[in-house]
Amino acid sequence: MLVGLVGWRGMVGSVLLKRMTEENDFSKFEARFFSSSNAGGEGPQHGSFEGRPKLYDAYDLCALKECDILLTCQGSSYTNCVYHKLVSIGWRGYWIDAAKTLRLHETSVIALDPINYSFIKKSIDSGIKVFCGGNCTVSCMLMAVGALFTHNLVDWIFSSTYQAASGGGANHIKELLAQMGSLYGSSEKLMKDPASKILDIDRVVLEKQQQFGGEEIKYFGVPLAGSLIPWIDKDEGSGISLEEWKGFAETNKILGLYEKQSKQIPVDSTCVRVGSLRSHCQSLVIKLRKDLPLNEIEKIIESGNDWVRVVPNNKAESETQLSPVSVSGTLSIPIGRIKKLKLGREYVSAFTAGDQLLWGAAEPLRRMLNILIDENCRG
Ligand code: NAP
Repeated sequence: MLVGLVGWRGMVGSVLLKRMTEENDFSKFEARFFSSSNAGGEGPQHGSFEGRPKLYDAYDLCALKECDILLTCQGSSYTNCVYHKLVSIGWRGYWIDAAKTLRLHETSVIALDPINYSFIKKSIDSGIKVFCGGNCTVSCMLMAVGALFTHNLVDWIFSSTYQAASGGGANHIKELLAQMGSLYGSSEKLMKDPASKILDIDRVVLEKQQQFGGEEIKYFGVPLAGSLIPWIDKDEGSGISLEEWKGFAETNKILGLYEKQSKQIPVDSTCVRVGSLRSHCQSLVIKLRKDLPLNEIEKIIESGNDWVRVVPNNKAESETQLSPVSVSGTLSIPIGRIKKLKLGREYVSAFTAGDQLLWGAAEPLRRMLNILIDENCRG
């Protein structure tokens, strides 16, 4: 079986390759690597392949058409440009995609197999060929509280997000780091002088932040270091950011409710980019359909999958186990700060952290690839 990999150099793609190597996935198929910027160059070392593979042009439809499965982490412009052309020239392979472009198409499935494995399986059997990874906050949220949904306990949910810079891609993380360095640089002399006044440090840093321009804010558009951005993705004029809209649409699609309007579960959010480097956090408010004791709620949450774990609601464990730093690079989905709210017995709040490059992006794609390969071997 020939699997084409596009976008392997980016933020999601790099994490994907690392996971595929750790899990020995490359032993199961022949890999062909594509590039949109370096066709003819050398691809990555992978599996037991000796040397570096040749890179194919990511826009070469003939080379793409030869692949049984194409897995892309290249982004939505690439999918927009290539997918329909490939299908129109008769390609009938499987398309696995990190981008948003095809997620809500009628003939695609958003893959998050710990939550919707049976739906994925049914879809393969019925001839579905497009499997997309979900929005990162949606996938991480469902990995944390998916069991409350599948037990039909959620009346509605509201998420306030704290999303890392790497959610924007490789260049965004570099921009944040450059801004951080530049802020420190502007105050270094004062920082090293024990007699300097804190308000002088504060003033020079703020002046630097307010002067950021050009290349310094090329990707985020505004300063992020030492600040935050209360809008993520497009503004389509409704007052709801595209990221927030995805929260509702994609959660319901993963749960199989997107087409059943009367059964859809309200999912609202305010999505905020913060200056963390990797991993998204979310503060959740959930209105349950009934009043359940906290220990029962925690038990249900933990029954959801092998990666979610409840963190006891105390200062020490919350501080050490619920931060971006503690989850980055791991598949663990900790959820804590679980408490009843004064609003009423059915209202619960919680705080969860998850590596958005793993469960929020690369891992569901990697697992989807394996599901297809296993199915194909069986078939
Ligand atoms: P990215 O880091 O910007 O990478 C996308 C492509 O940009 C790469 O494959 C590479 O293509 C090119 N590129 C340009 N400058 C680069 C640099 N300095 N380093 C590495 N690659 C560079 O984007 P991404 O975050 O991986 O996102 C890919 C897709 O996944 C998007 O559709 C995104 O919405 C989705 N997604 C992202 C996340 C996330 O947390 N980042 C989560 C869920 C879904 P060439 O090698 O061909 O030049």
